[in-house]
Amino acid sequence: MPSPKHIFDAVVVGAGIAGASIVKSLKNNDINNLLVIDKGLSGATQTSAHSEALCHPYIGRGPSRLQRLTFLAFNEARQVWATSWRGNGVFHLPRSQEGFSKEIMGERLLEQGFTPEKAVPLSKKDALAKINVNAGGTYFPEGGWVNIQGACHDVFEALLPSQARWSTEVDVINFENGCWYLQDSSHELIAVTKRLFLANGLGAQRLCESIKIDLPLKPVRGQLSRFRFNHDSSWVEHMPKVALSGKAYCLPPVLVEKDAYEWVIGSTYDEGVDDIDEWDESHLENSALMREMLGLELLSEELKAHSAFVGVRCVANDRLPIIGPVKGYQGLYTLTSLGSRGVMWSALASQMFTEHLAHEITHSAFLDARFFAGARLAAAGLTSDLAGALGAARFLAGASNSKLILPSG
Ligand SMILES: Cc1cc2nc3c(=O)[nH]c(=O)nc-3n(C[C@H](O)[C@H](O)[C@H](O)COP(=O)(O)OP(=O)(O)OC[C@H]3O[C@@H](n4cnc5c(N)ncnc54)[C@H](O)[C@@H]3O)c2cc1C
Repeated sequence: MPSPKHIFDAVVVGAGIAGASIVKSLKNNDINNLLVIDKGLSGATQTSAHSEALCHPYIGRGPSRLQRLTFLAFNEARQVWATSWRGNGVFHLPRSQEGFSKEIMGERLLEQGFTPEKAVPLSKKDALAKINVNAGGTYFPEGGWVNIQGACHDVFEALLPSQARWSTEVDVINFENGCWYLQDSSHELIAVTKRLFLANGLGAQRLCESIKIDLPLKPVRGQLSRFRFNHDSSWVEHMPKVALSGKAYCLPPVLVEKDAYEWVIGSTYDEGVDDIDEWDESHLENSALMREMLGLELLSEELKAHSAFVGVRCVANDRLPIIGPVKGYQGLYTLTSLGSRGVMWSALASQMFTEHLAHEITHSAFLDARFFAGARLAAAGLTSDLAGALGAARFLAGASNSKLILPSG
């Protein structure tokens, strides 16, 4: 039987960036009788133990679903993760320079809603002068990178001791008499709540299986390399002035010792692999991708691997995140499958959950078949089809996608 110490208004399983963004939504709604549970010793010990996560909107050939979602999510990320935001722009290089035209890209950007403050097409010549990269592409002046781990620490270190349970693995969840019961592997009761948020990456798959929800998630290993090179290396002449993205991504190199630069380059993408050991071959792959992206024959031997960040991304089969209430499961919400876009998706989710919870509270009802996005996000372009594309219902047999409630007028 649960005692009062087990009962919470909301429980969040997982203390990575997904869990942190949900805590923000709960606090925005004054839900403070909350509990965060993680099997790690503290927050951000797994994939979110990442201090250099790049963030810029996606550009497609046309205004696709992914393009429209990242356009929105990027603006939210600038606000939600403002205190952990770093950098002064991102230059995005297309996969191939063949056929790249500044004029065509300019038209495409306008069609996708980008103003010149948001995205600027650069020719090879412009890019060499502005970024020190001899290739055409698109410059996002507001782009940058986020210290995800720092952002998580800011959120979890502000919790009271009674609001967090570390070194605790949730093994079983079940729903009885309007409440979710969480147990560990020895069937000890951990918590009871009316609102359960699964924000535990790949771990959400196993917990969902136990309540007959089959989420098609898979692991994708990634390694980010921290290289060092000397001040007399041939790389010095080619150092980009801002972060780059494309076939690979990198931050601008920084001087770390009197005569040595550090250059963060990532990230490999090994589908179906969950090994978090550092691999020499991944360092080689990262340096080769960077040479290829810059179109330069620079010596890889001059880049010495100094350290690495290795993590396992959680990816759904349609590559979109899973965000929102789960249709047919009262009081159950998911935030997983953030893939390679943890910064943007967690921020969008935080804002959507803030609005959704406010709506549930005002109506004293659970809205599991609807995801309330709020007037501001709706006005910014979050339409029903986009919100529907994020819901877990897309994977549930017999359930149509969750509908977004758009405010009238
Ligand atoms: C090499 C690499 C580079 C990347 N680069 C970028 C980038 O440039 N930009 C970007 O936006 N994103 C990037 N990402 C992706 C980003 O890091 C992830 O999307 C994000 O960190 C995922 O956060 P999460 O909270 O979903 O998962 P996690 O951080 O893994 O958190 C899940 C938590 O759940 C806990 N847990 C799991 N199961 C249970 C259970 N049963 N009980 C209790 N606790 C449990 C785990 O201990 C963990 O702490 C990159 C990822 C990698 C690997």
